[in-house]
This record gives sequence, C-alpha cells and structure tokens, in this order.
Amino acid sequence: MAEADTKPVVIGLRLGEDAERSRFVVELSDPVDVHVFTLTEPNRVVIDMPEVLWRAADAVRPNGRGPVESYRYGLFREGNSRFVIDLNSPVRVGEPQLLPPSDGFGFRLVVDLYPETIADFIARAGWPEELAALETPSPAAIAPPRPGAPTKRIIVVDAGHGGIDPGTHGPSGLLEKTVVLSVAQKLRDALEATGRYTVHLTRDTDVFIPLRGRVDIARAAKADLFLSLHIDSHESHDIRGASVYTLSEDASDREAASLAEKENMSDIIAGVDLSGDNNPVATILIDLAQRDTLNRSVRFAETVLTTLREATAIRPSTPHRAAGFAVLKAPDVPAALIELGYITNHADEAEMTTEAWRSRVAVAITAAVDRHFGTGTSPAAVQASIP
Ligand code: ZN
Repeated sequence: MAEADTKPVVIGLRLGEDAERSRFVVELSDPVDVHVFTLTEPNRVVIDMPEVLWRAADAVRPNGRGPVESYRYGLFREGNSRFVIDLNSPVRVGEPQLLPPSDGFGFRLVVDLYPETIADFIARAGWPEELAALETPSPAAIAPPRPGAPTKRIIVVDAGHGGIDPGTHGPSGLLEKTVVLSVAQKLRDALEATGRYTVHLTRDTDVFIPLRGRVDIARAAKADLFLSLHIDSHESHDIRGASVYTLSEDASDREAASLAEKENMSDIIAGVDLSGDNNPVATILIDLAQRDTLNRSVRFAETVLTTLREATAIRPSTPHRAAGFAVLKAPDVPAALIELGYITNHADEAEMTTEAWRSRVAVAITAAVDRHFGTGTSPAAVQASIP
C-alpha cells in the first residue's frame, strides 16, 4: 500500500553502555519527532514517535551492568509507535538528538541515559500534559443502533494485548496477540452470521489498547456480554487446555491470582501511566448491584466450557476459576476471560497456528453465546450459518 510506504522505517538499533552513560541510537529512513518521558512503579523511559515500520534486525541486549534492564517497541496506537525501556536504576534522560545521514548511516535518533538519584527521577517522572488527553480512548466511535432496526444483543469481543504488548509466546515464537486477534475476528464473523448479534472488537488490528480502555468500550457499547480472549503459558510444557475466568475480589487459587497479575501487567508493559489512577485491581468491589452481573458471568463461563469441550482440549483440573482481572471490571457488563490454551504446550501451540482450530473455537464460543441468550443453537448449526 502506498500509505504504508510513506512511514519512516527503523533500520537499526544500537545500545552502548558505559559507567557514565547508556546510549540508544535508533537509525531511521526519515526524521521523526519524538516525545521522551519517564514513568515510575516500575521505573521506565518511554519514547513516543509517529508510526514507524520496524525493520531493525534483532538488536543488542543490555549487558546487565547499566541501568537498562530490558526494552521493547511496537505500535502503541494507530499512528503512534512506542519504545519502552525498563530500568533497574534511576536515570536522567538527555535531550534527544536527531543526526542527519552521514558515513552511510541514515537519520539517527540518539537518546542518552545518565545515572540519577531516585528522588530526582521521581520528581521528573510523569506523563507529558499534551499526551495525557490522548490516553483516554474515545468510546464515542461506537455507533448507536439505527432506530427501527431489530434489537440485537451487543457482544464486545476483546483480543488481549496487541501492538507493543505481545502477551506470552510459544517455543516457536508464535505470539499470543496474533492468535487471539485472529480468533476474535473469526468469532465476530460467526456471531454476526447468526443475525442475532452486533459485535464490537476492542481491536481489529495489531494495536495496543489500555485495560481501562477495553472496559470503557464495553460500557459505552452497552454490551450484553464482554469476552476477553487470551492464551496462557506455563513453565511445565505438559499443561494444556482451555480455561475460563470470571471476576472475583478473592482469587479462587494461587495460580489464578498470578495469572490475573500477569494479564494485568499489560498497561505497565506498554508504558501507560497508572500513577494518577487508583490501582485497577485494588478497586474491585463487588457490591450488591454487581451480584447479578457476576451471576450471569459465572453462568456464561460454565456454558462456554461445555461448548469448547467439543472444539479443543480443556484444562483437566478446575477449568473455571476466578481472580481480579482488571479487564473484567465493568460493574454492569457480564464478562468472562477465556484462556484458549497453553502456548507453551506443543500440542496446543501446533493447533493454534491452524485456521481450522481458530474457526472451531470461534464457532464453539458462538454456540455458548446462543445458549446463554436462550437461542440454544448447536455448534453444527452455527457452522452452517457461516457463509
Ligand atoms: Zn493474555
């Protein structure tokens, strides 16, 4: 596409580290404007730039002796790429410099990090004013139903992670964000093919959406059901199968709690400023008004496990569990988070690469949505309705 061709290309990435200074050099085909800022808890440096195409060969890893613990980059939102550096000690960021092409190099963006006291780091940290406004997604993008149109149930399908946050990954390098987006798109198509649902995806491309933005989309759409799709990983490669999670203040077990903690890291991974926010997990309070929402969520979770069983492996022990997932927090929208399998298991991962498995899972979830809303369709009937 002509438009894609006009995006600046990142050709190379270098990191030089010595006692006085750590220097990132990003080599680009074209000059770009950047915003650099720092965030605390955990301490990070964020470099924002217009959308660029990353063509840099796998770049250098930090040597572990400097302040740079790790770094990552990717699309943060449409039109905006982001580079996030995790710090293991505080730094001051020098004024970024853009050097013109010379000696066979393209444009070079140079960002220097100098050792700094923690007090000064904290004093300087925070989101720049001009960016803060952009962080609130605009759920206004969701069109209201046309008057006179037959009422359809509204389903919001949430493909986890995206853009700069890849989620977990398998031994072959398959990424969670890629698999869940593909299943989400197939699920949308299968749901819409029944004629009974209006479906909104929280993301339809490889872009990052903050957790709260996903909840806001569900609420703005007045969703009847919110489904968040994820893929799990485990240090034991033997563990496989899908499991379903609903919201709870108290996790049903320690593994569910640590999974929620991992999934809730998404905003931190992407460099979202949470400092002005109440902790999204700590503020989960299930009051009486939420009981009904929660009951519906739990019923859906049980239903989807029965239909998924026909499509894919199910985790043998307690496949329905509960924990404090930030993305399930809308008080008025029944919601479930489906971990479609374990990307660390060879059998699960091999299936996840296939179109057949992705379609099968989408059809099974559609059948569960039908049962949940009382239309009682079988997966075979759902499959037949897809053009
Ligand atoms: Zn995930």
